[in-house]
Amino acid sequence: MGFHCIACNSDKSINHTMQDAKVGDLISIACCQNCGLVQLKDVPNEMDLFEFYKSKYRVEYRKQDRPSPKHVYRAGAQAISRLKKIAPFIKENTKLLDIGSGGGEFTYLASRMGADAFGIDPSSGYLEFGKNHYSINVEPKQISQLEGTQLYQIVTMFHVLEHLPNPLKVIRKVHQILKVGGLFVIEVPNLESKATSPFNHFFKAHICYFTSLSLIGLLKDNFSVEYVENEDVIFLVCEKTNVKKFKKPSQYNPSAVSLANSRLKYKNLKEYILNGGLFKIFKKIPGTIKERYFSYGKEPKMILESFLRREDLANDNQA
Ligand SMILES: [Zn+2]
Repeated sequence: MGFHCIACNSDKSINHTMQDAKVGDLISIACCQNCGLVQLKDVPNEMDLFEFYKSKYRVEYRKQDRPSPKHVYRAGAQAISRLKKIAPFIKENTKLLDIGSGGGEFTYLASRMGADAFGIDPSSGYLEFGKNHYSINVEPKQISQLEGTQLYQIVTMFHVLEHLPNPLKVIRKVHQILKVGGLFVIEVPNLESKATSPFNHFFKAHICYFTSLSLIGLLKDNFSVEYVENEDVIFLVCEKTNVKKFKKPSQYNPSAVSLANSRLKYKNLKEYILNGGLFKIFKKIPGTIKERYFSYGKEPKMILESFLRREDLANDNQA
């Protein structure tokens, strides 16, 4: 099958063979020579993917269909650190949508900070878990099933965009449901990171591999990019500017192509070790002990509440 970029439709690519970090299969990765988006060469269709995420994904990749206390702790810690970054924008009853809400930790914590938070996720086990333990507003939905226009002040997508076969269609949908001046908050793995393991980066489940430049290239015509953290992961906040109709991205930045080509060439074990990769194993040990200590035998809700107490972030008008 010939190559067609899932973002810009160009047929020019440089291809690489990588190994899937979880199951070990060889996968073909294509780097688009027009927009710089790195992607799986053969993209599965949307329906097959939805079915995969509904049942198999969490079991195959996470080895379980609902989060353990340790995972609640870990996801809660991530959710709190993301919420701290956008805390100034969360006011009482701010309408927030979390796409890919997983076990519901972020949705719950955002609502405890005062937001009117809603989550969607394809994984039924995780959704039920969140509903039962935190009484949050979550639904099993695909992004394409979201209706209406200008409904939300904040839309968040943490580690979702890299799983989707049509990132531009998703960005267009978010643009539709966001209010003018609303924020789109994205976090994705970072192909630019030199300190993340080359053996833990390529997955069959990841369709796109972003650099800061290729991600900005997809957003810049319809959003103004306000904040980018370019570290182990890319954390980006952009604002829906007052554009009436969604514009197809026009000019791509040639540096996005050269950056992606060079990252695919140099992302290897030597670079990882030279950038302190081995020390990361040691750094993980105290974290693991802390996870056990704060999560062992505790109710999921209590685990999340303890994050709010430590950070003093709860808006108790809501409780
Ligand atoms: Zn492209």
